Amino acid sequence: MRPDQKMTTAGRRHLITGVAVSSGIAIGPAQFINRRDNAIIVRQRIRPEEVAAETARLDAAVETLVREFSEAQAQLRDQAAKGSRESREQADIIEAHIMICRDPKLLGLARSNISEREISAEWGWEKAVQEMLAAFANIDSPYLRERAADLQAVSSRVTACLRGNRLRLSAHTAPKIFFAHDLTPADTLALAPENIIALVTEMGGKTSHTGILARSLRIPCVVGCPGLEEAVIDEALVIVDGINGFVIINPREAELAEYREQQSRFSLYESDIRKQAALPAESVDGVRVSVYGNLETSRESVLLKEFGGEGVGLYRTEFGFLSRHNLPTENELFEDYRRIVEEMAPHSVVLRTLDAGADKMIGQRQRVEEENPALGLRAIRYCMRHQDIFRRQLRAMLRASVYGNAAIMFPMISGLSELRLAKSILSEVKQELDNEGTEYNRHLPLGSMIELPAAVFVAEALAREVDFFSIGTNDLIQYSLGIDRGNKYVSYLYQPLHPAIILAIKHVVDMARQAGISVCVCGEMAADPYSLAVLLGMGIDEFSVTPRLIPFVKNLIRRSDVAEFRDLARQVYRQNSAESVLRLIRQNIYGRFSGELSFFAAMTGSEI
Ligand code: PEP
Ligand code: MG
Repeated sequence: MRPDQKMTTAGRRHLITGVAVSSGIAIGPAQFINRRDNAIIVRQRIRPEEVAAETARLDAAVETLVREFSEAQAQLRDQAAKGSRESREQADIIEAHIMICRDPKLLGLARSNISEREISAEWGWEKAVQEMLAAFANIDSPYLRERAADLQAVSSRVTACLRGNRLRLSAHTAPKIFFAHDLTPADTLALAPENIIALVTEMGGKTSHTGILARSLRIPCVVGCPGLEEAVIDEALVIVDGINGFVIINPREAELAEYREQQSRFSLYESDIRKQAALPAESVDGVRVSVYGNLETSRESVLLKEFGGEGVGLYRTEFGFLSRHNLPTENELFEDYRRIVEEMAPHSVVLRTLDAGADKMIGQRQRVEEENPALGLRAIRYCMRHQDIFRRQLRAMLRASVYGNAAIMFPMISGLSELRLAKSILSEVKQELDNEGTEYNRHLPLGSMIELPAAVFVAEALAREVDFFSIGTNDLIQYSLGIDRGNKYVSYLYQPLHPAIILAIKHVVDMARQAGISVCVCGEMAADPYSLAVLLGMGIDEFSVTPRLIPFVKNLIRRSDVAEFRDLARQVYRQNSAESVLRLIRQNIYGRFSGELSFFAAMTGSEI
């Protein structure tokens, strides 16, 4: 459903479009819990004799906040000690917030604003924060955007402390859709999870903490919504469409009815499919397929098991770097990898080495200015330049390998020499561990991602050097068709079923078969019913998808006839446009999958 984009004033209906970070539909009353304080900052001049008192007021506000953060952190550490990973992660984020409060540069700036400009503590603090934010503003990096959001979150809490108006979230008890300018982990602590139907914030992007929290609570969440403060009135009825990223305040009757209908159909279907999550993915003609999960944090392993995942096909280790302010130590990385490997044992866990660079920058120190970051220092190239980070990560992965069934995989391999260079570093790291007497799994499988056209062309040579391939279709499509995967102007050209992509995948599968190694598809394409039919027909029997989609993909596989799809694939190879491929598949699978297609479209935002 795509609601009418026009904003109406009758009945004060507002449609706000944001970024969907946790799927599902919620309908309920609104509650704004944290408004931006910047708008009401006291911009007041002070007399010279008031400078000392104003500075002391600022220091006291910051100390109060540090104390509150520390208390929240201690509580979280307690929960973490009892095994809550989510608490451990939130405690780390609070640590970052405490560091912001104690940042000598920020405090120094604020204090000198008060004394030199003779302005109020609120104003002096705000000016200092704005100066720091301005330094981030010209750098287009999701990492820095999130750090800026952290700074803003801390900043408004300091302002609120100065105004003696600190948040008291726990006062809210009834189930509500919570709206906020932004939410810090400390804020979310004060919310009883059973009372949150959905979360909506003005700030935040795909990697924001609010999204992480919402996904772990399995509630819909939309972030990055402009204009909430003006549009939301407490208790107003709201629809949160966490599938498409819409927030409708005071919806029309017809909209409400449609969403209610969609909500009940969706949850019925979902609970039905979820009940079958543990069943094996075996096609009607007896082909057994493995369905793994793509994970970004080890915390998601619980969810993965619940959704019937048979292992981790892709552990995106970038998240462990992106969600923090400084580089993780070898031991921190080891703990993270050990946790996931141990938790998933005896199932396998494919640990991908850092895919930093382009849109996944991991920090200022490692940053280089690049004209064309997607074609620059990304993934394995980044690791070759920052070998200290690469070696640290490899050591941690190898050490974790004795705790279960781990594998290592290199991203963005472009050719044989690059693969061999990465392998030689891996051998050196193994030698180092040998010399120290540190244990690791000597038979640890090694894989290469196939996500560049160059890797497709030289797949035969690469296949002789590794134990498995994993096709990253997200990037393979981007680099083969020459379109930025995040650019809305060329998104119409992002066609997984383009004949070039089909033939590229076919070639990789043929080369893997010839070398006797396994091949998995771990891009989003694996969770698209049309593509899935062709991939099954090509003989692919390993897929790795977002955990939430695992039960759905397994269900589709159980309804598939692989022999039939093999015939279909043969016809697909002869097509010369994405449109004709799609037409052909549609004719062939519609009868078989018809009931599922609309749900897939709802969840993945794809067209049917
Ligand atoms: C891919 O490119 O398909 C892939 C799985 O890797 P990522 O999305 O992390 O780049
Ligand atoms: Mg990729």
